Amino acid sequence: MGYAYSMLIIFGSNEKKTNQGEIRRYCPVCGRETQHTRENRVMRLTLYFVPLLPLSSKSVERCNLCGHEEGARGRP
Ligand SMILES: [Zn+2]
Repeated sequence: MGYAYSMLIIFGSNEKKTNQGEIRRYCPVCGRETQHTRENRVMRLTLYFVPLLPLSSKSVERCNLCGHEEGARGRP
């Protein structure tokens, strides 16, 4: 008894976004070529809000006009 509260371990995850610049490409929502922001996103496992290890990473390109997101193509 009495140990119950000391066993509380806080796991979580956070997402780190890195801006990789702007790119012009076709947006299917806007129906024309628009400015997109390319982002690299790394999902990390955290323990007590301290990042431990990366779970996944991906690059997305987000339309500056409508916010539509698509996976990055072409350049890695
Ligand atoms: Zn758009």
